[in-house]
Amino acid sequence: MYRRGKLFGVDLTDLRLVDHHVHGPAGAGLSRAGFEQAITESDRPVPGWMSTFDSQVGFAIRRWCAPVLGLEPFAAPGDYLARRRELGAAEVNRRFLRAAGVSHYLVETGWSADQLLDPAEVAEVSGARAYEVVRLEAVAEELAVSGVDAAGFASRYATALAERSRHAVGLKTVVAYRSGLDFDPRPPVADEVAAAAGRWLASGSSRLDDPVLSRHIIWAAVELGLPLQFHVGFGDPDVRLHRSDPLLLTDFLELVEPRGVPVLLLHCYPYHRQAGFLAHSFPHVYFDVGLAVNYTGTQAPQVIAESLELAPFAKVLYSSDAWGPAELHYLGAVLWRRSMERILDGTGWPAAEALRIATLIGRDNALRVYGLDR
Ligand SMILES: [Zn+2]
Repeated sequence: MYRRGKLFGVDLTDLRLVDHHVHGPAGAGLSRAGFEQAITESDRPVPGWMSTFDSQVGFAIRRWCAPVLGLEPFAAPGDYLARRRELGAAEVNRRFLRAAGVSHYLVETGWSADQLLDPAEVAEVSGARAYEVVRLEAVAEELAVSGVDAAGFASRYATALAERSRHAVGLKTVVAYRSGLDFDPRPPVADEVAAAAGRWLASGSSRLDDPVLSRHIIWAAVELGLPLQFHVGFGDPDVRLHRSDPLLLTDFLELVEPRGVPVLLLHCYPYHRQAGFLAHSFPHVYFDVGLAVNYTGTQAPQVIAESLELAPFAKVLYSSDAWGPAELHYLGAVLWRRSMERILDGTGWPAAEALRIATLIGRDNALRVYGLDR
């Protein structure tokens, strides 16, 4: 368990976090190769001449996660993975999720759900509350498999999304991965949707990447009214990073503003300063720098500090975006706490005020936006 040093005035050890965008931990153990692959966002095989432990996230795991498994800080990767195997996946998941100090996990279930714990299992293993966030594209892809015709697509999608998200607290789109954030901001008209659905269904593709259908399902989500998360910026190589600058969403955000639907920009790196501008400008826009915190390790304080330049503190949230190894669920929380302590100490603000601001960002903003029970 992370305990801060005595050097600083602000102590976030006991602040219970809301991880507002996360995926389940892996249900099964991981081989050395599997683990190395899981601590990089690259989907390419790790070359034999390098190790992903030689990276910010790799060093952070050795520094902060080794003690949770009963090892000395900076244990060698081979010893670390041997200890992990000895404990087994269930115990590893239990230790890291309980040590993270998170009271609410908002679990997105739209990608490789069969390999990961589902929200009920996350709640059980962590002792925290867990809620589901539904991925818009996954609902459309399930609908295509279940059999739908082009003319019926729009109404069947609306019904399927409402049904699928009956118990969810939010929705998420990965349009940044599919056609980019530079989509036409207006909702498509019915004829356009039917024509696009006809083309997509005839193509036999299981992946929804048609820009008209992407716009349609995003507007269907706006109709439903749940908080809507957008993947923005850093992710795996499937993303076209130059088309995932959140400023490309500006016109869309203006169109959504009167609807009162909160829009949450996830990750955002390296566009977190652009996201800060949008959060500053629009009352319904929020963002986080999850994922980047884990992957920037010792440089995370700088990234988080940049995310707090323009944005009002009521508009920034905490997330880990952990997926797979439970180390990432824990590490997100440890690195965020350490970073925020350093940043807030540097402000010279009274400790009680600094703690209040950290509590907004780490917890209260998410409780309010998603309407969660304390
Ligand atoms: Zn994610």
